Amino acid sequence: MEILGYFVDLDETMHTIKDKGYKTVALQIPEGLKGSTSKIVEFIEKETTCTAIILADPCFGACDIANYELKNLGVEFVIQIGHTPIPNLENILIPTTFVNALSSREVAQAVEKSIPLLDGTRIGIVTTAQHLHTLDDVEKILQKHNLEPIISDGDGRISNKGQILGCNFSAGLNIVDEVDSFLFIGSGNFHPVGLLLSSKKPVIVADPYTNSVKKQELEDLKDTILRQRYGAIANSQNAKKFGIFIGMKKGQQRVKLAHKIKEMLDSVNKKSLLIAMENFSPTSLQGFRDIDCFISTSCPRIAIDDYLQYKTPILTPAELEIVLGKRKWEDYIFDQIS
Ligand code: SF4
Repeated sequence: MEILGYFVDLDETMHTIKDKGYKTVALQIPEGLKGSTSKIVEFIEKETTCTAIILADPCFGACDIANYELKNLGVEFVIQIGHTPIPNLENILIPTTFVNALSSREVAQAVEKSIPLLDGTRIGIVTTAQHLHTLDDVEKILQKHNLEPIISDGDGRISNKGQILGCNFSAGLNIVDEVDSFLFIGSGNFHPVGLLLSSKKPVIVADPYTNSVKKQELEDLKDTILRQRYGAIANSQNAKKFGIFIGMKKGQQRVKLAHKIKEMLDSVNKKSLLIAMENFSPTSLQGFRDIDCFISTSCPRIAIDDYLQYKTPILTPAELEIVLGKRKWEDYIFDQIS
Protein backbone atom coordinates (compact mmCIF):
# COMPACT_ATOMS: atom_id res chain seq x y z
CA MET A 1 0.00 0.00 0.00
CA GLU A 2 1.27 3.48 -0.89
CA ILE A 3 0.83 6.10 1.84
CA LEU A 4 2.18 9.63 1.80
CA GLY A 5 5.18 8.72 -0.34
CA TYR A 6 5.98 5.47 1.48
CA PHE A 7 5.39 1.85 0.54
CA VAL A 8 3.99 -0.23 3.41
CA ASP A 9 3.62 -3.95 2.72
CA LEU A 10 0.93 -5.36 5.02
CA ASP A 11 0.34 -8.67 3.16
CA GLU A 12 2.35 -10.90 5.51
CA THR A 13 0.76 -9.21 8.51
CA MET A 14 -2.73 -9.92 7.13
CA HIS A 15 -1.78 -13.62 6.72
CA THR A 16 -0.59 -13.73 10.33
CA ILE A 17 -3.82 -12.18 11.65
CA LYS A 18 -5.92 -14.69 9.67
CA ASP A 19 -3.75 -17.71 10.56
CA LYS A 20 -3.75 -16.91 14.28
CA GLY A 21 -7.40 -15.86 14.31
CA TYR A 22 -6.67 -12.56 16.08
CA LYS A 23 -9.82 -10.56 16.80
CA THR A 24 -8.32 -7.37 18.24
CA VAL A 25 -5.06 -5.82 17.09
CA ALA A 26 -3.35 -2.57 18.06
CA LEU A 27 -1.72 -0.21 15.61
CA GLN A 28 1.28 2.04 16.31
CA ILE A 29 2.00 4.65 13.64
CA PRO A 30 4.78 7.26 13.65
CA GLU A 31 3.69 10.90 13.72
CA GLY A 32 4.57 11.50 10.06
CA LEU A 33 2.23 8.76 8.85
CA LYS A 34 -0.70 9.37 11.21
CA GLY A 35 -2.58 11.11 8.39
CA SER A 36 -2.97 7.66 6.81
CA THR A 37 -4.33 5.93 9.89
CA SER A 38 -7.88 5.57 8.52
CA LYS A 39 -6.59 4.10 5.27
CA ILE A 40 -4.53 1.49 7.11
CA VAL A 41 -7.34 0.58 9.52
CA GLU A 42 -9.84 0.27 6.65
CA PHE A 43 -7.40 -2.03 4.85
CA ILE A 44 -6.88 -4.26 7.93
CA GLU A 45 -10.60 -4.49 8.69
CA LYS A 46 -11.45 -5.23 5.04
CA GLU A 47 -8.80 -7.94 4.69
CA THR A 48 -9.49 -9.63 8.04
CA THR A 49 -12.29 -9.96 10.57
CA CYS A 50 -10.37 -8.21 13.35
CA THR A 51 -10.87 -4.80 14.91
CA ALA A 52 -7.96 -2.37 15.16
CA ILE A 53 -7.28 -0.08 18.12
CA ILE A 54 -4.97 2.85 17.39
CA LEU A 55 -2.30 3.55 20.00
CA ALA A 56 -2.21 7.28 19.56
CA ASP A 57 0.73 8.16 21.84
CA PRO A 58 3.80 9.29 19.89
CA CYS A 59 5.89 6.35 18.69
CA PHE A 60 9.46 7.35 17.79
CA GLY A 61 11.09 3.95 17.42
CA ALA A 62 10.95 0.19 17.75
CA CYS A 63 12.09 0.73 21.36
CA ASP A 64 8.48 1.69 22.04
CA ILE A 65 7.10 -1.80 22.44
CA ALA A 66 3.47 -1.83 23.50
CA ASN A 67 3.16 -2.98 27.11
CA TYR A 68 1.16 -5.46 29.08
CA GLU A 69 -1.64 -2.95 29.78
CA LEU A 70 -2.91 -3.72 26.29
CA LYS A 71 -4.05 -7.12 27.51
CA ASN A 72 -6.76 -5.24 29.43
CA LEU A 73 -8.00 -3.88 26.11
CA GLY A 74 -8.15 -7.39 24.70
CA VAL A 75 -5.29 -6.73 22.28
CA GLU A 76 -3.74 -9.95 20.96
CA PHE A 77 -1.32 -8.58 18.38
CA VAL A 78 0.49 -5.28 17.77
CA ILE A 79 1.40 -3.85 14.37
CA GLN A 80 4.07 -1.15 14.49
CA ILE A 81 4.43 0.74 11.23
CA GLY A 82 7.54 2.58 10.08
CA HIS A 83 10.23 0.86 12.15
CA THR A 84 12.36 -2.27 11.94
CA PRO A 85 12.62 -4.62 14.92
CA ILE A 86 15.32 -4.37 17.59
CA PRO A 87 16.56 -7.99 17.55
CA ASN A 88 18.00 -8.11 21.06
CA LEU A 89 14.81 -7.03 22.82
CA GLU A 90 13.56 -9.97 24.85
CA ASN A 91 10.34 -10.85 26.65
CA ILE A 92 7.99 -8.95 24.41
CA LEU A 93 4.70 -9.70 26.14
CA ILE A 94 2.30 -9.25 23.24
CA PRO A 95 3.21 -10.62 19.78
CA THR A 96 4.39 -7.65 17.74
CA THR A 97 5.23 -7.22 14.08
CA PHE A 98 7.18 -4.34 12.57
CA VAL A 99 6.23 -3.18 9.08
CA ASN A 100 8.76 -0.83 7.57
CA ALA A 101 7.65 2.19 5.53
CA LEU A 102 9.96 2.47 2.54
CA SER A 103 10.38 5.90 0.99
CA SER A 104 9.54 6.15 -2.69
CA ARG A 105 12.10 8.94 -3.13
CA GLU A 106 14.90 8.34 -5.64
CA VAL A 107 18.35 8.71 -4.11
CA ALA A 108 20.49 8.99 -7.26
CA GLN A 109 20.43 12.77 -7.62
CA ALA A 110 21.41 13.48 -4.00
CA VAL A 111 24.11 10.77 -4.04
CA GLU A 112 25.63 12.15 -7.27
CA LYS A 113 25.77 15.59 -5.63
CA SER A 114 27.55 14.14 -2.60
CA ILE A 115 30.48 12.69 -4.61
CA PRO A 116 32.66 15.86 -4.64
CA LEU A 117 32.21 16.24 -0.87
CA LEU A 118 33.33 12.74 0.11
CA ASP A 119 36.73 12.40 1.76
CA GLY A 120 39.00 9.61 0.50
CA THR A 121 37.93 6.58 -1.50
CA ARG A 122 36.65 4.17 1.16
CA ILE A 123 33.14 5.25 1.98
CA GLY A 124 30.98 3.80 4.75
CA ILE A 125 27.29 3.95 3.83
CA VAL A 126 24.64 4.29 6.52
CA THR A 127 20.97 5.13 6.52
CA THR A 128 17.70 4.92 8.41
CA ALA A 129 14.92 2.34 8.01
CA GLN A 130 13.06 4.30 5.30
CA HIS A 131 15.93 4.15 2.78
CA LEU A 132 17.42 0.70 3.43
CA HIS A 133 16.16 -0.56 0.07
CA THR A 134 18.23 2.08 -1.75
CA LEU A 135 21.63 0.92 -0.50
CA ASP A 136 22.34 -1.30 -3.55
CA ASP A 137 21.79 1.70 -5.84
CA VAL A 138 23.98 3.91 -3.65
CA GLU A 139 26.75 1.31 -3.80
CA LYS A 140 26.58 1.17 -7.59
CA ILE A 141 26.76 4.96 -7.93
CA LEU A 142 29.84 5.09 -5.71
CA GLN A 143 31.51 2.25 -7.62
CA LYS A 144 30.83 4.09 -10.90
CA HIS A 145 32.95 6.92 -9.46
CA ASN A 146 35.76 4.48 -8.56
CA LEU A 147 34.98 4.67 -4.87
CA GLU A 148 34.86 1.71 -2.51
CA PRO A 149 31.53 1.53 -0.67
CA ILE A 150 31.53 -0.36 2.64
CA ILE A 151 28.32 -1.39 4.40
CA SER A 152 28.42 -3.17 7.74
CA ASP A 153 26.11 -5.01 10.08
CA GLY A 154 25.41 -3.33 13.39
CA ASP A 155 25.23 -4.88 16.86
CA GLY A 156 22.33 -6.83 18.37
CA ARG A 157 20.12 -3.74 18.42
CA ILE A 158 20.26 -3.36 14.63
CA SER A 159 18.32 -5.59 12.23
CA ASN A 160 19.69 -4.47 8.85
CA LYS A 161 23.07 -3.85 7.28
CA GLY A 162 23.93 -0.17 7.09
CA GLN A 163 21.13 0.89 9.42
CA ILE A 164 21.70 3.37 12.23
CA LEU A 165 19.34 4.55 14.97
CA GLY A 166 19.44 7.80 16.92
CA CYS A 167 20.71 5.69 19.84
CA ASN A 168 22.98 3.28 17.98
CA PHE A 169 25.66 3.93 15.36
CA SER A 170 27.28 0.50 15.50
CA ALA A 171 26.81 -0.15 11.75
CA GLY A 172 29.12 2.82 11.22
CA LEU A 173 31.45 2.36 14.18
CA ASN A 174 32.14 -1.28 13.22
CA ILE A 175 33.92 -0.03 10.09
CA VAL A 176 35.29 3.24 11.39
CA ASP A 177 38.92 2.11 10.89
CA GLU A 178 38.23 0.88 7.35
CA VAL A 179 36.65 4.03 5.92
CA ASP A 180 37.83 7.54 5.07
CA SER A 181 34.38 9.10 5.43
CA PHE A 182 30.70 8.23 5.79
CA LEU A 183 27.81 8.89 3.46
CA PHE A 184 24.46 9.13 5.27
CA ILE A 185 21.31 8.70 3.18
CA GLY A 186 18.31 10.38 4.77
CA SER A 187 16.94 13.55 6.28
CA GLY A 188 17.21 15.21 9.69
CA ASN A 189 20.36 15.98 11.59
CA PHE A 190 20.33 13.77 14.67
CA HIS A 191 21.48 10.52 13.06
CA PRO A 192 24.37 11.95 11.00
CA VAL A 193 25.57 14.31 13.72
CA GLY A 194 25.47 11.43 16.21
CA LEU A 195 27.64 9.38 13.85
CA LEU A 196 29.97 12.37 13.34
CA LEU A 197 30.39 12.80 17.10
CA SER A 198 30.84 9.08 17.71
CA SER A 199 33.11 8.20 14.79
CA LYS A 200 35.13 11.41 14.52
CA LYS A 201 35.21 10.76 10.74
CA PRO A 202 33.70 13.15 8.16
CA VAL A 203 30.00 12.54 7.50
CA ILE A 204 28.29 13.74 4.33
CA VAL A 205 24.49 13.79 4.15
CA ALA A 206 22.61 13.02 0.92
CA ASP A 207 18.97 13.93 1.50
CA PRO A 208 16.59 12.26 -1.00
CA TYR A 209 13.65 14.44 0.12
CA THR A 210 15.30 17.72 -0.85
CA ASN A 211 17.93 16.33 -3.26
CA SER A 212 20.47 18.32 -1.28
CA VAL A 213 23.75 17.47 0.42
CA LYS A 214 25.49 18.85 3.48
CA LYS A 215 28.82 18.53 5.23
CA GLN A 216 29.95 21.84 6.77
CA GLU A 217 26.46 22.48 8.19
CA LEU A 218 26.79 19.19 10.08
CA GLU A 219 30.24 20.13 11.40
CA ASP A 220 28.79 23.45 12.62
CA LEU A 221 25.92 21.63 14.32
CA LYS A 222 28.39 19.27 15.99
CA ASP A 223 30.27 22.28 17.39
CA THR A 224 27.01 23.82 18.63
CA ILE A 225 26.01 20.57 20.34
CA LEU A 226 29.41 20.21 21.97
CA ARG A 227 29.19 23.82 23.24
CA GLN A 228 25.72 23.09 24.66
CA ARG A 229 26.93 19.88 26.29
CA TYR A 230 29.91 21.68 27.80
CA GLY A 231 27.50 24.30 29.18
CA ALA A 232 25.16 21.64 30.62
CA ILE A 233 28.11 19.91 32.31
CA ALA A 234 29.43 23.21 33.70
CA ASN A 235 25.94 24.12 35.01
CA SER A 236 25.75 20.81 36.85
CA GLN A 237 29.06 21.08 38.69
CA ASN A 238 27.45 22.28 41.92
CA ALA A 239 24.33 20.12 41.70
CA LYS A 240 23.41 18.50 45.00
CA LYS A 241 20.32 16.51 44.06
CA PHE A 242 20.00 14.44 40.90
CA GLY A 243 17.03 12.80 39.19
CA ILE A 244 17.87 9.66 37.22
CA PHE A 245 15.49 8.86 34.36
CA ILE A 246 14.48 5.27 33.71
CA GLY A 247 12.53 4.91 30.46
CA MET A 248 9.42 2.74 30.80
CA LYS A 249 9.50 1.88 27.11
CA LYS A 250 10.92 -1.60 26.78
CA GLY A 251 13.70 -0.69 24.35
CA GLN A 252 14.78 2.35 26.36
CA GLN A 253 15.14 0.62 29.71
CA ARG A 254 18.65 0.69 31.14
CA VAL A 255 17.69 -0.17 34.70
CA LYS A 256 21.10 -1.57 35.74
CA LEU A 257 22.80 1.55 34.46
CA ALA A 258 20.35 3.74 36.41
CA HIS A 259 21.17 1.85 39.63
CA LYS A 260 24.88 2.05 38.88
CA ILE A 261 24.58 5.82 38.51
CA LYS A 262 22.70 6.04 41.80
CA GLU A 263 25.50 4.08 43.52
CA MET A 264 28.08 6.36 41.93
CA LEU A 265 26.25 9.43 43.27
CA ASP A 266 25.82 7.82 46.71
CA SER A 267 29.56 7.20 46.84
CA VAL A 268 30.26 10.95 46.51
CA ASN A 269 27.46 11.90 48.94
CA LYS A 270 25.12 13.31 46.30
CA LYS A 271 21.41 12.72 46.71
CA SER A 272 19.44 11.16 43.88
CA LEU A 273 16.00 9.88 42.91
CA LEU A 274 15.17 7.22 40.33
CA ILE A 275 12.36 8.55 38.13
CA ALA A 276 10.53 6.15 35.79
CA MET A 277 8.33 7.52 33.03
CA GLU A 278 6.99 6.66 29.56
CA ASN A 279 7.38 10.09 27.96
CA PHE A 280 9.75 12.59 29.53
CA SER A 281 8.70 16.17 28.85
CA PRO A 282 9.23 19.62 30.42
CA THR A 283 5.60 19.56 31.64
CA SER A 284 5.85 16.15 33.28
CA LEU A 285 9.10 17.12 35.06
CA GLN A 286 8.26 20.67 36.15
CA GLY A 287 7.09 19.50 39.59
CA PHE A 288 10.58 18.25 40.53
CA ARG A 289 11.69 21.71 41.67
CA ASP A 290 14.28 20.44 44.14
CA ILE A 291 16.25 18.53 41.50
CA ASP A 292 19.36 20.37 40.28
CA CYS A 293 20.28 18.02 37.44
CA PHE A 294 18.66 15.11 35.59
CA ILE A 295 20.59 12.14 34.18
CA SER A 296 18.88 10.28 31.33
CA THR A 297 19.37 6.54 30.94
CA SER A 298 16.36 6.59 28.63
CA CYS A 299 16.45 7.63 24.94
CA PRO A 300 19.72 9.55 24.35
CA ARG A 301 17.83 12.10 22.29
CA ILE A 302 16.12 13.50 25.41
CA ALA A 303 19.35 15.05 26.71
CA ILE A 304 20.76 16.15 23.36
CA ASP A 305 17.87 16.93 21.01
CA ASP A 306 15.45 18.45 23.53
CA TYR A 307 18.16 20.39 25.40
CA LEU A 308 16.62 23.84 24.95
CA GLN A 309 13.18 22.79 26.19
CA TYR A 310 14.28 22.09 29.77
CA LYS A 311 15.17 24.58 32.51
CA THR A 312 17.10 21.98 34.54
CA PRO A 313 20.16 20.48 32.82
CA ILE A 314 19.80 16.92 31.56
CA LEU A 315 23.03 14.95 31.21
CA THR A 316 23.89 11.64 29.63
CA PRO A 317 25.61 9.01 31.85
CA ALA A 318 29.04 9.78 30.35
CA GLU A 319 28.52 13.50 30.95
CA LEU A 320 27.80 12.82 34.63
CA GLU A 321 31.16 11.04 34.78
CA ILE A 322 32.77 14.28 33.58
CA VAL A 323 30.91 16.25 36.29
CA LEU A 324 32.16 13.81 38.93
CA GLY A 325 35.75 13.92 37.63
CA LYS A 326 35.70 10.30 36.49
CA ARG A 327 36.10 11.15 32.80
CA LYS A 328 37.91 13.96 30.99
CA TRP A 329 36.10 16.32 28.61
CA GLU A 330 38.62 15.25 25.93
CA ASP A 331 37.21 11.71 26.26
CA TYR A 332 33.63 12.86 25.65
CA ILE A 333 31.46 10.14 24.09
CA PHE A 334 28.01 10.33 22.58
CA ASP A 335 25.46 8.28 24.50
CA GLN A 336 24.30 5.08 22.78
CA ILE A 337 22.20 2.05 23.70
CA SER A 338 23.98 -1.04 22.47
S1 SF4 B 1 15.76 4.91 22.12
FE1 SF4 B 1 15.36 6.87 21.08
S2 SF4 B 1 16.79 6.91 19.35
FE2 SF4 B 1 16.66 4.77 20.06
S3 SF4 B 1 15.07 3.82 18.77
FE3 SF4 B 1 14.08 4.61 20.63
S4 SF4 B 1 13.33 6.67 20.09
FE4 SF4 B 1 14.88 6.05 18.55
